[in-house]
Amino acid sequence: MKTYKLYIDGKYISSSTKETFVSVNPANPKDILAKFHKANASDVEKAVRSAEKAFVKWSVIPAPKRGEILLRAAELLRKEKKKLGKLVTREMGKQILEGLADVQEAIDVAEYMAAEGRRMFGYTTPSELRDKFCMTIRRPLGVVGLITPWNFPIAIPAWKLMPALICGNACIIKPSSDSPVCVYELVRILEQAGLPKGVINIITGSGEVAGKALVEHPRVHGISFTGSKDVGEFVTQHAGLKKVGLELGGKNAIIIMDDADLKLAAEGVVWGAFGTTGQRCTASSRVIVHKKLQNQFEKLLLKEVSKLKVGDGMNCDVGPLVNKNGLNKTAKYVEIGKKEGAKMLCGGKTINNNGGYFYSPTVFTNVKSGMKIAQEEIFGPVLSIISFNRIEEAFAIANNIEYGLSSAIYTNNIRNAFLAIDVLETGITYINSSTIGAEVHLPFGGVKATGNGTREAGIEGIHEFSEVKTVYIDYSGKLQKAQIDEFVEK
Ligand code: NAP
Repeated sequence: MKTYKLYIDGKYISSSTKETFVSVNPANPKDILAKFHKANASDVEKAVRSAEKAFVKWSVIPAPKRGEILLRAAELLRKEKKKLGKLVTREMGKQILEGLADVQEAIDVAEYMAAEGRRMFGYTTPSELRDKFCMTIRRPLGVVGLITPWNFPIAIPAWKLMPALICGNACIIKPSSDSPVCVYELVRILEQAGLPKGVINIITGSGEVAGKALVEHPRVHGISFTGSKDVGEFVTQHAGLKKVGLELGGKNAIIIMDDADLKLAAEGVVWGAFGTTGQRCTASSRVIVHKKLQNQFEKLLLKEVSKLKVGDGMNCDVGPLVNKNGLNKTAKYVEIGKKEGAKMLCGGKTINNNGGYFYSPTVFTNVKSGMKIAQEEIFGPVLSIISFNRIEEAFAIANNIEYGLSSAIYTNNIRNAFLAIDVLETGITYINSSTIGAEVHLPFGGVKATGNGTREAGIEGIHEFSEVKTVYIDYSGKLQKAQIDEFVEK
């Protein structure tokens, strides 16, 4: 079995703990991908020293030149897309078309950020004084720590690495213990594209030890974290004065109005709820449907759900949950839903196949907005249907949640669509489309407990990984005092 040691300063080194763990295929846990080292705080210190050294040289390379490396990485990713897509499916279970899409997102963000290297805009503005010039420029943060989840094992690391690199930062990445191979492959490609060694360092091991050490390290100047709300809260409490970006959970709703194209809506709900086996932060875990259409919608939905084939993502529609905990959590919430009095329309079964972590797509109806299954992030293939009579009621139900990532409305009425855009408390709103489907040149992120106000991707990704410097250039040749000197005509 292949062993990946920690990757620090361009060298594979053993961890100080001498402890290891493995990454397995969730569709067949006997299929072990590789073994990894568990890092601790002293390993993180080594990674920080390596990154600090690399930062000195990397940060002075002109951003357009850094962009050329990202562009070459995009080309290499495109060449290896098939192989990497299969790796994504094998390591975390998602259906192969989605595995390929994971790689495509990395290509897209590499290309987008490469081009940002030629923009990296600041602005100029007039001074209140004569013969004085004012502008802003962007500067890298320095050494940044990137902590990533497993559900987009190439895309999310790429969403963080590409903007961090184009801005001139040196990185230490701590991938999820459920999907580290994907990150090693992504970093291999970036170095093949010309990235100097030491600019990215990989620390593997548990979040509680390796991740925590990274978050707390005093010489790490930025943390970009994607994961659960609980860990996100931990990160804010332990990061001190670092710049912190948090992309956390979601409990996203699709509203179906009485004027909606019902077939389109049913397709969107199935894709949003059961794509990636419900393991997306933007998964559509709640459907808020107009009472008039509820029966008709449920019939249509059940017909679509019955067509879904559960199994190994290489040849099925719905892959496994990522691990045993994910499977148990899903099963637990299904029991909670039944106890809460929701009516299960389909699913509710663990599927035994090669020891893989499979669960049947599950739909609950007669769900009340306050029930646990409608409030908590299950991160599995479980959908709750809630009905409403008036649009205001639908919006109130949609907003009655601690999270605020994505939302959607199916309607053919322009007024309903614009009301939804105005009223829904989420970072993203889709009209006549599911709650999933982000594109890399637009900001991504949420409000309320989904984060701390930062956004990833698009120009916001540049803002996350850089600081603004304000520059004043006085060419008057004399001491000029802002707010004090009076303007005098020459
Ligand atoms: P998680 O359990 O919070 O873990 C995320 C990462 O944090 C992993 O690398 C984990 O390491 C590490 N970690 C755990 N404890 C830590 C600590 N005390 N200090 C520092 N790092 C720590 O989340 P997950 O199960 O991987 O991912 C699912 C969650 O991510 C869901 O809530 C989902 O909504 C959210 N998510 C959000 C977005 C978004 O953009 N908003 C996108 C995707 C996923 P180990 O697991 O290796 O121990």
